[in-house]
Amino acid sequence: MKEAFERLSPYIERHTGEVCPFCVKVCCANKHGTPEAQDFFFFGSLGIEAVPAQGPADAVCSLLSAAGCTLPRWQRPFRCTWYFCGPLLEAMRNGSGREYRAFVSELERLVGLRRELLEKQKTP
Ligand code: SF4
Ligand code: SF4
Repeated sequence: MKEAFERLSPYIERHTGEVCPFCVKVCCANKHGTPEAQDFFFFGSLGIEAVPAQGPADAVCSLLSAAGCTLPRWQRPFRCTWYFCGPLLEAMRNGSGREYRAFVSELERLVGLRRELLEKQKTP
């Protein structure tokens, strides 16, 4: 999963770099930067501590800097990679079709791996 996050990241960041600087309502808030139980299970399986956002839920995420998120993608809550706003999706779809299809395929692979991991969590 960590490798899949790292493979996806350059493509996502190329497009967030195009659209996010012009965003009027940034999606990064502390409530989104707070890991869920499934995220804790993933981090625990890697033997690392989660890095949760700090402060009121509706404040801008404490992990956000002027240059973007300060965490490597694999260390963010899963929802941070899973969320695509309209302008971001549009930028991706307006780019190379081949790259977009490769991205979707890798994203599906990541989701499948995560599903497998979470199944293990349920197995006693
Ligand atoms: S992903 Fe979309 S909503 Fe979030 S900061 Fe970028 S442009 Fe704004
Ligand atoms: S991408 Fe980073 S800055 Fe944005 S909500 Fe997630 S953890 Fe916070």
